[in-house]
Amino acid sequence: MLKSRMTRDDGRAPEEIRRRNLGALLRHVHLHGPLSRAALGTRTGLNRSTIMALTADLAAAGLVRESGLSSTGRAGRPSVVVRPESERVHVLAFDVAVDRLAAARVGLGGTIIDRRDAVRSRAGADLDVVVGVLAELGRELRHGTPPDSVCVGVGASYCGMIRPSDGMVRFGPDMGWVDQAFGAELGRRLGLDLPVLVGNEAHLGAMAEHQRGAGVGVRNLIYLHGDVGVGGGIIVDGELLDGDAGYGAELGHMMVNPYDGRPCGCGSRGCLEAEVGERALLDAADRPAGLIGREAVRAVVDAADHGDPAARDALRRIGDWLGIGVANLINLFNPGLVVFGGMLRDVYRGSAAQVRARIAENVLPVSRERVRLSVSTLGDDATLVGAAELAFAALLADPLAGARPGSSPAAAPPVTHPAG
Ligand SMILES: [Zn+2]
Repeated sequence: MLKSRMTRDDGRAPEEIRRRNLGALLRHVHLHGPLSRAALGTRTGLNRSTIMALTADLAAAGLVRESGLSSTGRAGRPSVVVRPESERVHVLAFDVAVDRLAAARVGLGGTIIDRRDAVRSRAGADLDVVVGVLAELGRELRHGTPPDSVCVGVGASYCGMIRPSDGMVRFGPDMGWVDQAFGAELGRRLGLDLPVLVGNEAHLGAMAEHQRGAGVGVRNLIYLHGDVGVGGGIIVDGELLDGDAGYGAELGHMMVNPYDGRPCGCGSRGCLEAEVGERALLDAADRPAGLIGREAVRAVVDAADHGDPAARDALRRIGDWLGIGVANLINLFNPGLVVFGGMLRDVYRGSAAQVRARIAENVLPVSRERVRLSVSTLGDDATLVGAAELAFAALLADPLAGARPGSSPAAAPPVTHPAG
């Protein structure tokens, strides 16, 4: 889903090499911030004159700015610093979770420049309402954009199974969405003449943690995202493992307790999310049925911290099921890192001992030699950051086409300001 895409096929090898090199250089400053030309040379293996020519092209396209001198050049020689044009070049990123909506203008380089948040109601939050709120948030964000700013893409994270080709939500069990044309409808309502790329929230969270969070430098990782249910993203050798049609890594529906397990929103029974999701934890802690949401989950973990016996028992039980799921995943994929994101950050905080005990008991000894467990370092922004990276993908694959309005399907016209 997030793999590089060629936007042209002109068959000319030197042009393709140049495009790839431009993309690699831009990706380095996008992910790592300002870098000297010398550092870029070291990271890409390109020689000094090639770097100079390519960064001049990126600067002419308005994607980077070359300024100042860094004293970290080879042999102590000062080297020009290349910075992403974070204020000028941006994307719009949207995040649809079960209980909340978020929108952000994210600059090249990954900085969230401006953001808006809204509450999503669990009752009656249908496509029209959700897209209407997001489009309004998008309008507010564009209103505050500098005149020479260029929107180069739009990305969205959704808490369900997504068809990557057109952003159709095929199945979102928590809100009962089936075959809802979310990406197309959001694109139409935004009116930016840009496609809206949509990804599954846990897939995007996995990529975000891999590129900018707890998993930087880790080639193989598993990301478990807790919203009301549980989603998953698996990175193998730096690439998202998204399956034949984009619906892979539904780790929340891995069956862990088929015989007397709790019913799952997917129609099955004993899925991991049925045993460790929000309702499972709140029921295990004897919380009233009407109590829902992230704060309620956090309150159980805090109560356990303060010695509440029911909360402690609940976290022991939930942590055991979570550990069983994680043990299966470690045996299957031999990851270097397992990251707990979203609501599972809180659950893991309160149940790490049970998770580790299951790993010690159930994971093959050689498979657990190197694996680390961590909470998401991007926190609640992991999925939003992932949506932004999805929106930047076309620009990074072909920087000069992506920066030139109207020259590629992913290119953006300059953002216009509403009158008044
Ligand atoms: Zn299920």
